Amino acid sequence: MMRHAIDKGVNYLDTAYTYHEGKSEVVIGRALEDGYRKRVRVATKLPVWLVHGPEDFDRILSEQLDRLRDDHVDFYLFHGLNRKFWREVVLKHDLLEKARAALADGRIRQLGFSFHDDYAAFKEILDGSDLWSFCQIQYNYINVEDQAGQRGLKLAADRGLAVVVMEPLLGGRLADPPVEIMETMMEFPLRRTPVEWAFGWLWDQPDVSVVLSGMSNLTQVEENLRLAARAKVHCFGTKEQILLAEVRAGYKARTVIPCTGCGYCMPCPNGLDVPANFDVYNYARAFDDVATAQLRYDFFLKPEERAGACQRCGACLDVCPQQISVFDWMEKVRVLLDSCVREKENQQ
Ligand code: SF4
Ligand code: SF4
Repeated sequence: MMRHAIDKGVNYLDTAYTYHEGKSEVVIGRALEDGYRKRVRVATKLPVWLVHGPEDFDRILSEQLDRLRDDHVDFYLFHGLNRKFWREVVLKHDLLEKARAALADGRIRQLGFSFHDDYAAFKEILDGSDLWSFCQIQYNYINVEDQAGQRGLKLAADRGLAVVVMEPLLGGRLADPPVEIMETMMEFPLRRTPVEWAFGWLWDQPDVSVVLSGMSNLTQVEENLRLAARAKVHCFGTKEQILLAEVRAGYKARTVIPCTGCGYCMPCPNGLDVPANFDVYNYARAFDDVATAQLRYDFFLKPEERAGACQRCGACLDVCPQQISVFDWMEKVRVLLDSCVREKENQQ
């Protein structure tokens, strides 16, 4: 899949130390043998939550280069920066100086960061170093004002940084909209698939440098290649923007918990499957179908993974990029979906 994508023009691959339990970098290293490495830029990330001292920077980077079978990384990011990681890891352990040295000796070619926090934290990080040449933000037509948002995109671009966009389909959700959202899209005279609407909205914007897309099979690769071949800055006009504003409002009204399923809160020390609980709850609310959601909840989640097992320990709070008050929502999930609660209600 990777080689086919590169043959057809894909020139940027994004990975990280922790993806696929450490195997993603290894697979990319192998896929890029036989001359493919020269044809792409490789981005990977330092897991700042695993850094306990300045020496961890060189140790982890060296391990990453081994996995990638390479002597340099084109785009190196501090992974998932928020205010806390910025202050308590990057600044505390002087990691910018380690990065400066890695830039100087060529182990990394460009330095950036991926980001999950609010706009003020984004600006603080941007202001905090002159080493940044790019950043990576969560951005899609639903999350216009969330996290760094459109303001953050503009701020970074005005300073000359390249901006890489992640979550263009909001964890795949924008690829498979509910019927009424689909109907709204179908009203538009020029037919586009939901994926085409989501990517088109990003490609339209001159400040967006790269749009990342996770692809799980060759069909998705082919579809993305087909859409990207037609991508153009300023491809959307006022009518498209009006339609997407309508779609945005429709989604906003339906999605209750803004969980993207990123899994940063996992594993939960008490065994809960946090994103699965939220996914089922959002399903119940978005589709007004509590009965089916309860069936899914009972079928897909083991008792120890369900909301009722939450101990309110708070371990998930700091790591959630969406700053979701996880345990408060768990209580609502429990009340709506947990069979123990349902049985008690039935007995009353
Ligand atoms: S607050 Fe609940 S969901 Fe979060 S880590 Fe603790 S037990 Fe798990
Ligand atoms: S609760 Fe937060 S950290 Fe956990 S999967 Fe959802 S968005 Fe990610």
